[in-house]
Amino acid sequence: MIPAAFDYVRASSLAQVIDLLHDDPDGTKLVAGGHTLLPALKLRLASPALLIDIGSLTELKGIEISETSIKIGALTTHTELLASELLSKELPVFSQAASLIADPQVRNRGTIGGSLANADPAADWPAVVVALQAEIEIAGTNGLRRVAAKDFFVDIFSTVLEPNEILASIHIPQPKAGMRFIYRKIRHPASGFAVVGIAVGVRLQQGVVADISIGVTGAASHAFAGQQAADFLTGRTLSRQNIDQAAKLLSETTECLSDRYASAEYRANLIRIETTRALLALSS
Ligand SMILES: Cc1cc2nc3c(=O)[nH]c(=O)nc-3n(C[C@H](O)[C@H](O)[C@H](O)COP(=O)(O)OP(=O)(O)OC[C@H]3O[C@@H](n4cnc5c(N)ncnc54)[C@H](O)[C@@H]3O)c2cc1C
Repeated sequence: MIPAAFDYVRASSLAQVIDLLHDDPDGTKLVAGGHTLLPALKLRLASPALLIDIGSLTELKGIEISETSIKIGALTTHTELLASELLSKELPVFSQAASLIADPQVRNRGTIGGSLANADPAADWPAVVVALQAEIEIAGTNGLRRVAAKDFFVDIFSTVLEPNEILASIHIPQPKAGMRFIYRKIRHPASGFAVVGIAVGVRLQQGVVADISIGVTGAASHAFAGQQAADFLTGRTLSRQNIDQAAKLLSETTECLSDRYASAEYRANLIRIETTRALLALSS
């Protein structure tokens, strides 16, 4: 449980981080809240030559709300997302989802950027940012680029981030008036991570679904958008029959993970149940 030796730099600017990553991308690791990386170092699952502590970079912290979008810095902690009254007023799904993450100790240290960059298939934020149709802003030697959240997650613990890049912020378009979001999860009883987590956003117009987005986590190798189910519901009412059919479609078209705790069949059933519950909650 003792990490291999590494050099340590406490970064003072984003530009410095990018320079250091450029020098040795494969031998360098960033540490934000450290709640995932430190155990990995101790278990020697990661043995970087250089550890860059980005924890004090104020340029990657905070929540900014404008008329058109909401920007969340990568270093914003789960607790800050839970406690922000301003954010809760705009998008209550943030405090709702944050309250379901682990315990106060983890929430106080863990960051949304660390969670997204780590791409644990059972992490909560990936489903939420996919349903919010967010864009992930990435900084690197060539400047900034943005990637739609639905295209950011590639595989288990794998994203489109290159080794010489850093996740800088999350940008969420201001939802249309009347759009409501919900996040539901079945927690693993030991870790609290999502066995299956479903985030849904719906806007109804005269009882018919005008806009809908669905993000899924926990079920498969990485978070993804439930596009087929969303397409099915668009233009339809949220009747029990339509909800059941959409939930079944999402469940049947997902290639579910299987592990010691939950078989693929069990996860598929949880997708069906949690999608149904989320849509029922948004139907009235
Ligand atoms: C006991 C326990 C229970 C947990 N339960 C849950 C849960 O229920 N739900 C949930 O979603 N999560 C859960 N987590 C995960 C936790 O909430 C954090 O989200 C997670 O640890 C990652 O955030 P961090 O800031 O600690 O990242 P770190 O541990 O610092 O980093 C994680 C990885 O991301 C990289 N990284 C970090 N920041 C950036 C960045 N800005 N750009 C590029 N790469 C970056 C690091 O190099 C590292 O590879 C749990 C963790 C623990 C220890």
